[in-house]
Amino acid sequence: MIDRDRLAALHAEEEQRFVDLHPRSAELAADARGSLLAGVPMPWMTRWPGAFPLFVDRAEGGGFTDVDGIEYVDLCLGDTGSMTGHCLPAVAEAVRERTERGITTMLPSTDATWVAQELARRFGVPLWQMAMTATDANRFVLRFARHLTGRPRVAVMDWCYHGTVDETLGVLEHGRAGDRVVPRPGALGPQVDVAVTTAVVPFNDLDALDRRLAEGDVACLLMEPALTNIGIVLPEDGYLAGVREITRQHGVLLVNDETHTICAGPGGATAAWGLDPDFVVMGKPIGGGIPVAAYGMTEEVADRLTGPMLGHEIDVAGVGGTLTGSALAMAAVRATLSTALRQEDFDVAIPLAERFTDGISAVIAEHDLPWHVQRLGCRAEYWFCPPPSTGAEAAAAVDEELDAFMHLWTVNRGVLLAPFHNMSLFSQFHGTADVDRHTEVFADAVAALLG
Ligand code: PMP
Repeated sequence: MIDRDRLAALHAEEEQRFVDLHPRSAELAADARGSLLAGVPMPWMTRWPGAFPLFVDRAEGGGFTDVDGIEYVDLCLGDTGSMTGHCLPAVAEAVRERTERGITTMLPSTDATWVAQELARRFGVPLWQMAMTATDANRFVLRFARHLTGRPRVAVMDWCYHGTVDETLGVLEHGRAGDRVVPRPGALGPQVDVAVTTAVVPFNDLDALDRRLAEGDVACLLMEPALTNIGIVLPEDGYLAGVREITRQHGVLLVNDETHTICAGPGGATAAWGLDPDFVVMGKPIGGGIPVAAYGMTEEVADRLTGPMLGHEIDVAGVGGTLTGSALAMAAVRATLSTALRQEDFDVAIPLAERFTDGISAVIAEHDLPWHVQRLGCRAEYWFCPPPSTGAEAAAAVDEELDAFMHLWTVNRGVLLAPFHNMSLFSQFHGTADVDRHTEVFADAVAALLG
């Protein structure tokens, strides 16, 4: 359907256009290569489209300006870290205040209590702990779950992503002798064979989950209520209720990782869909961009963990961290949850995501393409295949050439998508003009591709 020679020629034109548009970013990127591995402070930043990453002069609300003076609609929002929109005034104020009154003392602050109460109200689980990142929070929950159950393994969904948590970087390989767990393609230097630590099950498959958990060696199932890291794969009707029933039946703790699915509303999918997990993990945007995460648990789990928490050796137990739960982080979360990620914010952002999916769907239909666009709350994503029901189906349809081209085409026209797959996020600071700008750019890209 897509002529690959045409795609390659268009891509080459866009590469040149990118270089021509961004002379100042090019200079700064060249400078960075002398002291930063691969020219970036964090490996994922090599994934941006174009010959070098953009350097940002200023980000605000739903957009940013780069050092060459070009303005962008930001639909990446720091890959969810700034889903609140950039630079919330209340966060700026709270952070300034805290930097003048003490950033970190390793003593609790009243903001921490406020934050825990607010998270309990939103997600419906009553007791909370803090972490620096969602990865951290997931790691701590896995540790607690193994401790509580005395079981060695964790279960995850095939093609999930939960951060740089070793146990989650596995996928299923299908063979004649059955499925086996293997390292996720690309996983670097695993500390142990992931098959030893992890059970992997396909999303939307209750029978497979039941069969695997029946083996009795799984402490917890860590999952997103909808997969968001391999496109968006929504749960089929009854699936999540089935997951809860099966996990209970096998004594497996259920962990909802809401780090991305917070896009469904103020209490994530857990609140939006009335879910009943044992643990909830939340990270990325809750500090308005300041690094902080949290995990909550039921009263029953908390009762069983209070003993270990008060143990003399909890400081070397493998949970927590020196800067975790700092006064600065807690002030940032309080300011964020007081002024963003509220129902009234989603009431602005979700209709924008709906407008986005309507626009993309119309282009797909006009050209009769076998593509789809999926939405969860204020997050939307198009994918070059019909809607998949498992992560493996979505992974099999990845089209790296088309992805790379769409990212480069859009960034060259002032719209930034997340650098992995085609995710777009909307905040209360975006407007219909931002959505329509993307739709127009997307339609032009498709027209150029089809000739
Ligand atoms: N959980 C989910 C669902 C995620 O998508 C991610 C990151 N993409 C993480 C956890 C890890 O977040 P962080 O990289 O901030 O630790």
